[in-house]
Amino acid sequence: METPEGSRRRVMVRRHLAARGIRDQRVLSAMGLVPREEFVPADMAESAYDDGPLLIGWGQTISQPYIVALAVEALSIGRDDLVLDVGTGSGYAAAVMSQLASRVVSVERIPALAAAAARRLGRLGYDNVEVVCGDGSIGWPESAPYDAVCVSAAGPGVPSQLIDQLSEGGRLVMPTEGPTGQVLISGIRRRDEFERREIAAVRFVPLLGAGGYDPPAGWDGF
Ligand code: SAM
Repeated sequence: METPEGSRRRVMVRRHLAARGIRDQRVLSAMGLVPREEFVPADMAESAYDDGPLLIGWGQTISQPYIVALAVEALSIGRDDLVLDVGTGSGYAAAVMSQLASRVVSVERIPALAAAAARRLGRLGYDNVEVVCGDGSIGWPESAPYDAVCVSAAGPGVPSQLIDQLSEGGRLVMPTEGPTGQVLISGIRRRDEFERREIAAVRFVPLLGAGGYDPPAGWDGF
């Protein structure tokens, strides 16, 4: 017997993802499996399957389902892949990618969000996701190289450290600032080249840190 959330999730996959051009069946199945209502504050559970971002505290957001699917599809994640997720937030995108990859390392700079996401992912049984707290704008060299890197905060450009931590043939998706606003770019590392293309106009919170923008004055974290 399907739950009300399961039914809303099925409608989301059909109406907001498949009907808008997401074709990869593995991505559609992963999005159909992860219970987004568990990743949003309890008072927003009713809106969990609307196609929009939602506030998750600390001025941060869980991204719009369509944009998560678009980014994950562009990463072409294989079953044996190691994925770096920069900007854990709620842990939702990490959970989606964990369904496609062998392992996901997810970096969040706000300690309270990292701790909450680690607890949530553990409780829900996503045991191939490791959440770490730090400045992901310079990647997470300890576990590199990565087959795929997904960044869900917008920077002025793609930090060179993230490209350096890609394996040969590795893919990266990240929102960056363009001349007329933010664009989601997708790139692939081939030897010393990084071939990139623009996927869509987007709106993300800023990537703060050494490879992104300066944190606000008074921030005593990373
Ligand atoms: N992927 C998330 C999800 O599924 O809920 C949404 C991420 S939210 C749009 C962007 C996140 O990036 C925020 O939680 C923010 O704190 C984080 N962030 C910003 N700069 C960062 C950095 N340098 N390293 C790690 N996380 C960062």
